[in-house]
Amino acid sequence: MNEEEWDKGALLARQKMPIKGLKILPQMVGISPETRKGLKWKSLKWIIQEDKKGAIRKGFLRHPFKHLGRFVRSLLAPLPYKREGDLFFYGVPHEEAFKELLGDPSTLLVLGFSYCHKPFECPSGRFTEDCLHDPENNVCRQCFIGKAHQFIPPQTVSLCIPTIHHIGAKIFALQEAHPQKKILFIITACEMTLTMFGDLGNMAGIQGIGIRLDGRICNTMKAFELSEKGTKPGLTVVLDETQGKMLALLKERSKRFQKA
Ligand code: SF4
Repeated sequence: MNEEEWDKGALLARQKMPIKGLKILPQMVGISPETRKGLKWKSLKWIIQEDKKGAIRKGFLRHPFKHLGRFVRSLLAPLPYKREGDLFFYGVPHEEAFKELLGDPSTLLVLGFSYCHKPFECPSGRFTEDCLHDPENNVCRQCFIGKAHQFIPPQTVSLCIPTIHHIGAKIFALQEAHPQKKILFIITACEMTLTMFGDLGNMAGIQGIGIRLDGRICNTMKAFELSEKGTKPGLTVVLDETQGKMLALLKERSKRFQKA
């Protein structure tokens, strides 16, 4: 199905059964000034304290010296990413360089969606890693995650992300299962999470783009902690223009694989 067909179906689904959305886009600062203070330390504390299954520790200990070296380098940099609007680049300088990587057959792309932009009516539930992405389902048809699933390129693992530990464990597991592959990622998250856990991604040696969410984002530690436990009454969104950029990246990977 092409994008035009998808959008027509989405319009029909909206007429039949409109899902709850944001009535207005709230103007929220990405990270509250109080939360910004000592954020790297708060992030590290959260990672260690909530690593109940030990997946992050085990992943770290698989290559302790390599991980420690990368982690310290990332910590010492003013920011763990380079930013262009809603796109945050990790281990890659800009979009063009990332597009080159997308065409590399030795890569595995992780396409991750933060659970907080799943619709309230999501048939798979919000605080889960599951996603039905059924184009015939009226909710999925109005959901950006459902739309993105129509354009999943080759060699891509897609997943919804309930917690930071969940995605951390997945990345380490994929690295272990595919040692010959370079892991790339495109992951949606709010600015605070993209800032808090960029060092962790850099430590794992993965390269990719964080897609900034707007809407009812978490911008305080309290809101973040509640969200990580499944309490997220607000809805976040990928802005329309950013949706277009994200889909273009997925299509770019498909195009480059077709040519190869
Ligand atoms: S596409 Fe996935 S996330 Fe979106 S509504 Fe359907 S099941 Fe939920």
